Amino acid sequence: MSAGSGSTSRPRTASRRRPDAAFVLDVRSLGRRPGTMKELRRAVPTAERMGLEMIAVPSGAEFDLDLRLQAVSEGVLVTGTATAPTSGECSRCLESFTGTVELSITELFAYPDSATEQTTEEDEVYRLVDDQIDLEPVVIDQLGLEFPLQPLCTPDCPGLCAECGVRMAIAGSDHGHEILDPRWAGLAKFATGSPGNGGPSAGDADQNHQ
Ligand SMILES: [Zn+2]
Ligand SMILES: [Zn+2]
Repeated sequence: MSAGSGSTSRPRTASRRRPDAAFVLDVRSLGRRPGTMKELRRAVPTAERMGLEMIAVPSGAEFDLDLRLQAVSEGVLVTGTATAPTSGECSRCLESFTGTVELSITELFAYPDSATEQTTEEDEVYRLVDDQIDLEPVVIDQLGLEFPLQPLCTPDCPGLCAECGVRMAIAGSDHGHEILDPRWAGLAKFATGSPGNGGPSAGDADQNHQ
């Protein structure tokens, strides 16, 4: 093996890292002594939109990770918050809006040879792989729980006018339409004809006297 041919192959660990591996945390320096702790703050830009159909953390937005990594007997316990800007579409008035989501994270990543690793399924407890923690699936799961299925621009969004579709928030509370329900139109006609009722009734009275 010449030095030249060796330089073309990449280190084995590099091929395992995904291009969007910003959520991957290396915990080698933490060691395995239970109780050892490490604070970690990191800004992670998202490679793609993360969330639900009507509300998500947009692509390119940054997650602000504020975490505490703690070595425990079975693995590494990750606690802390992940905060990111959100953009959504109101399910009532269809207007787009922005906000912030803060995820509360408490997750154990089991050591490869731990009892936890041997007695649980991979989809029950996350695994530590090559001394690395991949926080991305944790964040995706949490977003799914945190985001409402029918997001609103404001909690009391008045929605759209049923007649013309204008946003009631702009139109104002006195917004209405001249085209009335046919039943109401009939009542309005009756009301304008009523003042003349006194005449005929007086004539009837005369006839009764003969
Ligand atoms: Zn709305
Ligand atoms: Zn209207």
